[in-house]
Amino acid sequence: MELLKQRILRDGKYPSEGVLKVDSFINHQLDAQLIMSIGIEFARRFAYARATKILTIEASGIAPAVMTGYCMGVPVVFAKKAKPCTMDNPIESKVHSFTKNTDYSIMVNSEFLKPGDRVLCIDDFLAHGSAANALIDIIEQSGATLVGMGFVIEKAFQAGGKILRDKGIHVESLARIEELNKDHIKFCD
Ligand code: 5GP
Repeated sequence: MELLKQRILRDGKYPSEGVLKVDSFINHQLDAQLIMSIGIEFARRFAYARATKILTIEASGIAPAVMTGYCMGVPVVFAKKAKPCTMDNPIESKVHSFTKNTDYSIMVNSEFLKPGDRVLCIDDFLAHGSAANALIDIIEQSGATLVGMGFVIEKAFQAGGKILRDKGIHVESLARIEELNKDHIKFCD
């Protein structure tokens, strides 16, 4: 997605080897018009999939997931990182964060993912694929069907994209990064 790539080139920061900071337009301050364009693009690429639900993880996945859900006319569920006392029947999985070197749990109330659901996952970044695999695990536990996974930014030099595509999952990434270091960024195409 050219608009997104141009924005990453203009406003993205590369604070250390392999890390991209996009918090002036995606991760902290949000450019709502850009994120709406992202939602429109995901809705176009997954129009065929007949999704009944979008699934993401709080917090950074919510904005692109909501815009996608708005465009597709389906509800958006976000996996929570802490269990609220009001959640009766959580479906849980574990994520390993390579950036923070910690493990954390994510959970979804089983009320919001049912065996009949066709689920499209949307997230901000795909890196090693741990967050994506936890979402897949939650969908499997719920009995719902995964119909695709969309990522705003894929760091293609890390293993996540290959792992997901090797499983036969339809993965769409709007900006795929081939190389990233302190003063250089290169996109795959
Ligand atoms: P994975 O589980 O695929 O290794 O990493 C995905 C999650 O880690 C994303 O949801 C995102 O929050 C975070 N992440 C991974 N790499 C980056 C990065 O380069 N920049 C930012 N801002 N977040 C990242």
